[in-house]
Amino acid sequence: MVDILIIGAGPAGLSAAVYACRAGHSVVVLEENLVGGQIASSSEVENYPAVARISGADFAMNLYEQAAALGAKVEFEPVERAELAGPVKKLYTPDGVYEGRTVIIANGAKRRKLGAPGEEEFAGRGVSYCATCDGAFYRGKEVAIVGGGNTALEDALFLANNCKTVHLIHRRGEFRGNKILADAAVSRENIVIHYHSVVEKIEGEKQVGAVSILSGEAEKQPVRIPVSGVFIAVGTVPGNALFEGQLELDAAGYLVAGEDCLTKIPGVYVAGDTRTKQLRQLVTANADGAVAAVAASTYLATLEASGS
Ligand code: NAP
Repeated sequence: MVDILIIGAGPAGLSAAVYACRAGHSVVVLEENLVGGQIASSSEVENYPAVARISGADFAMNLYEQAAALGAKVEFEPVERAELAGPVKKLYTPDGVYEGRTVIIANGAKRRKLGAPGEEEFAGRGVSYCATCDGAFYRGKEVAIVGGGNTALEDALFLANNCKTVHLIHRRGEFRGNKILADAAVSRENIVIHYHSVVEKIEGEKQVGAVSILSGEAEKQPVRIPVSGVFIAVGTVPGNALFEGQLELDAAGYLVAGEDCLTKIPGVYVAGDTRTKQLRQLVTANADGAVAAVAASTYLATLEASGS
């Protein structure tokens, strides 16, 4: 049995691992995909204090190496079932069961699907959820990106470096993302912004060939845009079904916890994008990791003091 089990090797989980290891605890991190979570597929990070610019992949790898060097063990296994009540917490993966005195849930969130006709059909054949991963396939081509948040804006700017034209399709007349990114997208010559536009369908034969949108503020007109790729960046959704019945989830599926990262179960903490919070940023995920690890460490100290 280890002191602290952490679900998720993204910024929150790995920051928790750094703090927990430095406090002298044994730590296992369980990760279902690659280390770094969403930030690993972010082209550039430019808003992390004291780091003017770093690629998301480098940020993720630096944090992973720091946690591993301090003694955190990262296992690449998905958690399928969790037993959180009681003094011994159990996490079940296809390969077995992990036992810990405490659990920090830092499983992040995944890209939301758009739900448009053609999206499923052309997934991996022109429809992508990761511009940094797949953008290079569209050098010199016309592409579309759907969304109006920071991810869509950053991805549009990234794609514009290589693609002939980037059609940015947003359902409203103003962006949700930061002004600095919105201004950069608006002033980029090869980004065409389609405000007040919704995707009607994604079309093609073997590969994506066009995206059809309904465009216009008052009256929507159909517009067919020939593109080779459609990138979807319409937000994220958490994956917390396995905690239902044990922890409180809000209507959108986020785990309910405050800035202290505490849950109603002693020894169980929630950190990063998976919890209810106002601002989902790298810096706030890392901060949560630290807060959760210190809370777990304090709880372990009280267990030891009481002899349990
Ligand atoms: P987001 O901020 O939730 O934005 C999602 C966008 O998709 C919104 O513009 C939304 O439109 C649109 N959308 C949602 N559902 C849609 C649908 N069914 N059809 C069409 N459009 C739809 O998500 P995000 O951009 O992935 O960012 C997630 C979090 O990470 C945010 O907190 C963001 O600030 C953060 N982030 C930060 C940075 C950075 O600071 N550099 C970079 C990337 C991400 P509406 O605006 O109309 O709701």
